[in-house]
Amino acid sequence: MDMKKLAEILIPDKDLLPPEEYENIYPERVRDGKAEVTRLAPSPTGFIHLGNLYSALADERAAHTTGGTFYLRIEDTDEKRKVDGAVESVIRSLKYFGINFDEGAEIDSPLNNYGPYYQRQRAKIYRSFAKRLIEQGLAYPCFCTEDELNAVREEQTAEKLITGYYGKYAKCRNLSSEQIEADVKAGKPFVIRLKSQGSTENKILFRDAIKGEVTVTENDQDVVILKSDGIPTYHFAHAIDDHFMRTTLVIRGEEWLSSLPVHIELHKVLGFKPPRYAHTCSLMKMDGGTKRKLSKRKDPELSLDYYRKAGYFPKAVVKYLMTILNSDFEEWTLKNPDADYRDFKFRIEKMGKSGALFDLDKLNDLSRTEISKLSERECFEFLKSWVDEFGTEKDKAHFKDKDYIIKVLALVMGVGGKKRRKDIERAEQGVRLIDYFFDDTFAPVYNYRFDGQTVNSVIENFAKVYDPADDNSVWFAKVKSIAPLVGFAAEMSDYKARPEDYKGNVSDVAEILRIAITGMPNSPDLCTIMGILGKDRSVERLNAAKI
Ligand code: GLU
Repeated sequence: MDMKKLAEILIPDKDLLPPEEYENIYPERVRDGKAEVTRLAPSPTGFIHLGNLYSALADERAAHTTGGTFYLRIEDTDEKRKVDGAVESVIRSLKYFGINFDEGAEIDSPLNNYGPYYQRQRAKIYRSFAKRLIEQGLAYPCFCTEDELNAVREEQTAEKLITGYYGKYAKCRNLSSEQIEADVKAGKPFVIRLKSQGSTENKILFRDAIKGEVTVTENDQDVVILKSDGIPTYHFAHAIDDHFMRTTLVIRGEEWLSSLPVHIELHKVLGFKPPRYAHTCSLMKMDGGTKRKLSKRKDPELSLDYYRKAGYFPKAVVKYLMTILNSDFEEWTLKNPDADYRDFKFRIEKMGKSGALFDLDKLNDLSRTEISKLSERECFEFLKSWVDEFGTEKDKAHFKDKDYIIKVLALVMGVGGKKRRKDIERAEQGVRLIDYFFDDTFAPVYNYRFDGQTVNSVIENFAKVYDPADDNSVWFAKVKSIAPLVGFAAEMSDYKARPEDYKGNVSDVAEILRIAITGMPNSPDLCTIMGILGKDRSVERLNAAKI
């Protein structure tokens, strides 16, 4: 059979470059020997999840701790699953977590020398290589229909054999060139398959950058390399792309480990040296005492949008993922509490070999710690960026007054002071916490522990003497002065000695005033709150709080 003629019939495209040309178009990158070239290669399905972030962080760290390059390639060969805006969403989500690409799809970079970065735009490259493989007798057309393939699978399953297209089941392997020509002329749809040279009798020793030495069985399956629409499968496309984009390290989920023998064979027949592979383990969670994979259906925390909407502090999520990526990261942060996580020496070899446990409680804990370390300006920026995207119209209006918010935050969160609030893990909690400083979101619950006459008398008497110019001690002296007027003890020692002589004590006076001003029995320093609200609003609140 004249293979050249056969290849021409199957792939008649006139504008294909010879495969060798691509070696010149995409030359080896100029890089330091240790510098890794990594990539994130998502399918644009619109669902970007924690697993993507986990993998992207490993890619980004592997590249940037070695002075290498991290790029974005879009694996859009499956037209049906494509979602508009998915690429922007990947970039935006990763950027939110501080992970930036150096090169790639939709990245404005002078380094974009290895594109196009969308697989659909690289069809000619794949077709040129598929054509060459046909010429070499290493690939062939297959006209089997879905029904025929199903029938073969059923037969194999019944006989407890490995399913697939191989050996005697590879019916189209030995079609004559006349038959092929006739079928193509008749317009029968076909795929192009690899003509595997392997045998399951042989084992291959392979070195995974994470899992170490793994022995796999050689591939003997005639896998599809070009689908009937002429578009490549993942196997074929990734081998060509990682070669010509000069990837040095492929970090991907362990679900691809079973396809590794196919990938090893593809690199071999294509004449490429394979990149190093690193198969990451899946993110797991504890569920009722058992470990299971995080699931899109059951676990909202798998979606990255979950963290953005809830307002997690992005760096806390990243630092938490770092603790899963490299187990010595946690110890390092304890020794270097104020250091940037980027200063840590990330190493792919230190990644866990089996199921990484994702623990939301631990993440919450880290988020609380990170938020408690923010400066006034950082805290404002963090809450504002959440408000801009997810806040109510009222929140947005409140955050226009930066000076006021910063004063409020300094008090409520203890920002900048010694007594930092450590119970805020998400922006939304922080934003709700300051609602009572704004008249349109002030929703008081006047839950006093004393009768109306006592409450009103405390409020009226305090309103008479209140002066915003008073410092804390004068302010408190005034609160004390109200106590005897309503039958309360001004001194705690008096109250403790003879509680039966009093209706209450000075701290009960303060509580009544606190409920009146904030609508809650607990709050930060009331004198400071009244100072922030100002005289008019404070007096207005006192008057409105009488019962
Ligand atoms: N497009 C593949 C996926 O989304 C990428 C796998 C890889 O990184 O090679 O699963």
